[in-house]
Amino acid sequence: MNSNDQPFDPSFIAERYLGIKERVWRAVQKHGRDAASVKLVAVSKTFDAAHIKPVLDEGHRVFGENRVQEAIRKWPALRNRFEGLELHLIGPLQSNKVREAVAHFDCIQTLDRPKLASALASEIQKQGKHPRLLVQVNTGEEAQKAGVAPSKTEEFVAQCAKEFGLTVSGLMCIPPAKDDATSHFEMLRSLRSRLGLLDLSMGMSSDFEIAIDHGATIIRVGSAIFGSR
Ligand SMILES: *Cc1c(COP(=O)(O)O)cnc(C)c1O
Repeated sequence: MNSNDQPFDPSFIAERYLGIKERVWRAVQKHGRDAASVKLVAVSKTFDAAHIKPVLDEGHRVFGENRVQEAIRKWPALRNRFEGLELHLIGPLQSNKVREAVAHFDCIQTLDRPKLASALASEIQKQGKHPRLLVQVNTGEEAQKAGVAPSKTEEFVAQCAKEFGLTVSGLMCIPPAKDDATSHFEMLRSLRSRLGLLDLSMGMSSDFEIAIDHGATIIRVGSAIFGSR
């Protein structure tokens, strides 16, 4: 179901957003980490500008979308009205959408194959725009899920640098729904440390506090803010 078709109360979305911020703050503090060490990406996929506006009005500026075309429909108008927006692509990226993705996104979290790395490298050069890049790791090795196999991650990150001149800043994962996410978060964290990268994007509405416990630097929260999709 798409909540866009349902009546909604903007103040309710704002309240839920503030509640999530509070929980993030407490989880971060528990580890004596700085509040700024965890970036909350508000995942606004399927929600329109009217739903997003209450969160913008609270001063939030970091959002995630999983489809390039949907982001292009929604975000240029909002960018004109709100300064300092940071848009993250968290869904699969097809090579034929790379031009638009580089133009519209500040961070692409789903780099997962050489063909995409090659297309990104040439677009980045052409546009002179450098979105932050994360490699998606398929920690559950699920056939239907995008991402690089854990055992191939080191080689792929090295290939991105050597062959394509791309700087990968970190890793992202979406654990299998059926699993306890903890082992996936730990696997991603140890890969990240081994490769000496900065960003660790993991944790969603149901498990972002656990992800913070395991060192997440970027969490992606959708339904707990905007409602069910
Ligand atoms: C939709 C989505 C999220 C947000 O999921 P919620 O459970 O609604 O918080 C996070 N990450 C990715 C990659 C997504 O596609």
